Amino acid sequence: MFLTFIGAAGTVTGSKTLVETGASAADARFLVDCGLFQGPREIRARNWEPFPIDPTRLSAVILSHAHLDHCGYLPALVRDGFDGPVYCSPNTAELVPIILRDSAKLQEEDTAFARKKGFSRHEQPEPLYDVNDAERAIALLRPVEFGTEFHPADGVTAHLDHGGHILGSSIVTITDGGSGKTVVFSGDLGRGNHPLLAPPVPPSAADAIVVESTYGNREHEDVEAELDQMAAAITRTLKRGGTVVIPAFAVDRTEVLLRALRTLQDQQRIPVAPIHVDSPMALAGMRVYVRAIQDGDPEINSATVAEGPDAIDLPNTHEATTPQQSMALDHGGARIIVSASGMGSGGRVTHHLKALLPDRDNTVLLVGFQAVGTPGRMLRDGVHELKIHGQYVPVRAEIVEIEAFSVHADASELVHWLMSCDTKPAQVFVNHGEEDASSALADRIRAAWDVAVIVPQPGERVSV
Ligand SMILES: [Zn+2]
Repeated sequence: MFLTFIGAAGTVTGSKTLVETGASAADARFLVDCGLFQGPREIRARNWEPFPIDPTRLSAVILSHAHLDHCGYLPALVRDGFDGPVYCSPNTAELVPIILRDSAKLQEEDTAFARKKGFSRHEQPEPLYDVNDAERAIALLRPVEFGTEFHPADGVTAHLDHGGHILGSSIVTITDGGSGKTVVFSGDLGRGNHPLLAPPVPPSAADAIVVESTYGNREHEDVEAELDQMAAAITRTLKRGGTVVIPAFAVDRTEVLLRALRTLQDQQRIPVAPIHVDSPMALAGMRVYVRAIQDGDPEINSATVAEGPDAIDLPNTHEATTPQQSMALDHGGARIIVSASGMGSGGRVTHHLKALLPDRDNTVLLVGFQAVGTPGRMLRDGVHELKIHGQYVPVRAEIVEIEAFSVHADASELVHWLMSCDTKPAQVFVNHGEEDASSALADRIRAAWDVAVIVPQPGERVSV
């Protein structure tokens, strides 16, 4: 079996691994994940490069989860001729349509905006794909329950297990009947203490494991101390009449945040102020989470099932569904705005940042991983001006980073998960991380476990 790391090698986005079972044209070929490259222009440009293999030759795609950097390229693949099944867990199949429709719409809107304002480097900018391509991709989704075998190609058996990163996220196990070799993909791996989800299951016995390394060089801080810091930042901002802007991934991060805000509010650690969930996508995602909590879905942890939908459904939450409602929030005042995207690189939050960053009374709370080159990372790194829609705005608002909300395992948790495997694999591939993070994790694994540990180069092909 051969693996080619088309994306998420040397970076955290664009997850795509090509799996092939042999060298001849008749052999199996399919993808694990089909993600969009996100972040700075030179990384996003990779979305526009010709796909390294003719998409019509792929028999299937397996999606580990619904985040855009794992499923967001699918409509482009479909536009270029792919029409096979897209296997994923049932909850992923509910969330992917929300993400893809929004992504297509955003690409169309951003293109139209760039045309109107003329700040694109292209004379006639075109979207990467449109809503039609997204709908065709959605029609290919084939939900499979955890632990149920399916066949992404002739002679290949696969199954999914609970990954605990977001609702529906899966660990993917693939066995090639011909060679008898098995590969496990961690996907994005959750933490044992996700506030809503049950912990990830250990990896199946395998010849090779592909493990993510988003936080491969970091250990998460103590959650309580971080929540204190967050409560303090929110309290002082609201008291001075400022707005707290929280850029958040629409799916999962919003739910995790609302759960934390609920707790802080109930414990009177923050004043009660209007909380605006300003992302139609986040609101749609919330309905999927509420349904899973109500149904007592096995992915949801028992404490949350016992609490019921109130765990994430706050009485003082307001939904901003229309662009007008969204724009009205930019007049400032004591409120909390939760809006996508999580790294400030697109979506409604960019408009909020543009309007609210120049005012010292406001605060931007960064609650997720901020990739190099994104506005979120630049704010974290302390820039004095930020370029938004081609225009520089001064950064006078307070910038506070809270790591407590990470839904990625940290270095120790990743090593612990790997070593919970019954048998030692021959090779471990470390992907889905920035260079420093991947190589630090590789060193940690080498020190703990006598196996070959490889940080694959972008486009590298390896044999299992
Ligand atoms: Zn993810």
